[in-house]
Amino acid sequence: MPRPLRPLPRAVTGADDLIAAGLAAPQDHALMQRLGQEFRIRISPEMLGAMGQGVTAQFLPDAKELDHRPEQLSDPIGDDVHRIGKGLTHRYPDRVILHATQTCEVYCRFCFRREKVGEEGILPEADLQAALAYLHATPAVREVILTGGDPLTLSPRRLTDLFARLSEIPHLDAIRIHSRIPVVAPERVTPQMLAAFDVPQAVWLVVHTNHANELTENARAALRRLTAAGIPLLSQTVLLKGVNADADSLEALFRALIRNRVKPYYLHHCDLAPGTHHFRTTIAEGQAIMTALRGRLSGTALPTYVLDIPGGHGKVPIGPGYLEQTVAGQWRVTDPYGQSHLYTDP
Ligand SMILES: *Cc1c(COP(=O)(O)O)cnc(C)c1O
Ligand code: SF4
Repeated sequence: MPRPLRPLPRAVTGADDLIAAGLAAPQDHALMQRLGQEFRIRISPEMLGAMGQGVTAQFLPDAKELDHRPEQLSDPIGDDVHRIGKGLTHRYPDRVILHATQTCEVYCRFCFRREKVGEEGILPEADLQAALAYLHATPAVREVILTGGDPLTLSPRRLTDLFARLSEIPHLDAIRIHSRIPVVAPERVTPQMLAAFDVPQAVWLVVHTNHANELTENARAALRRLTAAGIPLLSQTVLLKGVNADADSLEALFRALIRNRVKPYYLHHCDLAPGTHHFRTTIAEGQAIMTALRGRLSGTALPTYVLDIPGGHGKVPIGPGYLEQTVAGQWRVTDPYGQSHLYTDP
């Protein structure tokens, strides 16, 4: 068992804890309780240790969450539109999402599934059996994406069972995990967990991380254990005002990820979940940041900036664009430093 570098306090899970930890004022007790009813509160010990610039705002409840706006959606990315059964979403022909649990190790205040996570817990066995039966009967599916909640909150015993059962599906090429655990609870990345991933299919892990200050020494060690076990690592980041919505913060994050052998995969435009208005930039702001980063960073360090189109229509890159047609066969291309050049299709 890898030992944590410092003793871990317990997680903060409610108004009393927030006040005891000095994260909220005693006179805000009722407000924090109210916010905890809107969306569960949980800050893991590792993230308590990382509190500060770029981290606190992700996890500390804020009165602004009560500001619900008409454009906000309880199912912002349309998971329910393509739901096959409980826990299973099939939107693209070749891959499905399996919600193995709705539990997380931390509850991120901007969560796009905040109307669903934190409530039901682990997917019941009967629903899991139905999902597996669907997968066996649907050979077009080549990849199962485990998300939640956070699938790595499952015990090593449950993970071993789940991976063993998924690995019996003959047409699967890959099992992909989307998780925050390596960063927010690195002590859970144990040899027992890694052993569960030892299946014939490729196991990929997409780590959700939003700021370089989250990548503590323990988190970096957990990422090393994963790469040492042969798990390719990608990252997903949500563009968040007050957390990382500037080129310097994202440059620092993407460089830190590359140093730790994680390929930045997606930068998500913040979805229209209720109570998240204060976190959302405009798309134009996001594009300006991406333009700045293109001139500064290695191509390997640049994620794709994506929007999950509300209504369940899927994720698409949202720029910035570098190409504009002038007349048929004639293009104007912008270079990484903003200069225009003409290109003619032969
Ligand atoms: C995001 C998502 C995927 C995965 O999309 P990729 O572009 O392959 O990362 C698959 N299914 C659903 C329903 C999704 O929301
Ligand atoms: S870990 Fe993921 S699913 Fe859980 S609260 Fe954070 S963003 Fe939402």
